Amino acid sequence: MDKPLDQHLYETYPELYRDRFGSPTQTLMCWGFECGNGWFPLLDSISTLLTNQCRDQSIASANVIQVKEKFGSLRFYFNGGDAFCEGVVDIAESISEQLCEICGAPGKINRLNGWLACYCPKHLPSGNQLATHHQNQELLYGLGGGWSRLVGALEKLINWDVEKNDMPPVQLSLLQTCDQLKLTFSGGDLKTHGMVALVNHYSRLIDPNSGELLAPMKTTIGQTDND
Ligand SMILES: [Zn+2]
Repeated sequence: MDKPLDQHLYETYPELYRDRFGSPTQTLMCWGFECGNGWFPLLDSISTLLTNQCRDQSIASANVIQVKEKFGSLRFYFNGGDAFCEGVVDIAESISEQLCEICGAPGKINRLNGWLACYCPKHLPSGNQLATHHQNQELLYGLGGGWSRLVGALEKLINWDVEKNDMPPVQLSLLQTCDQLKLTFSGGDLKTHGMVALVNHYSRLIDPNSGELLAPMKTTIGQTDND
């Protein structure tokens, strides 16, 4: 990740990233955010929600120990926090599987010369063919494609946790205002709260239909896009 974005994260959320300049013998956070700029808004959403949750619940701040890309998706490792924080991170990692690591636009995980990477058609290295899975995203709750992809990832993860991890059954429902996705739910647990909070928060950053980021990162952080 480019330096201004990296710096923005550790300066805005100093408690969460307190090991950013720790010793390599003690933390992998010393290497910074080891992923592309396209996931910066997602990391910003995670960071806001984790910081607010720990403050509001009067628990010690979570401590991030590594952020990286692996097999085409985000890995965000942290200590502390609570089940809400786990939910935030789990759904963000799932959502990253469909976000171009370079620009944050809708993308797909592709196999490139033996490694996996998540790119949009524009950033796919030439000579590679775009993966065809998830080609047609079903529109959910009458939402546009961008928001439907978020809700689809949420439903899939909740179903997994209900089936495999003893999450109580969840009934999602939609309170939609004109410019904001507001999901609510009954059932579930604290982890479900974290998942839904991340989707609601991140939805404000993307176009409801195209899924493209609303604010180019260069205008919010003052860095130039490499396109
Ligand atoms: Zn891209």
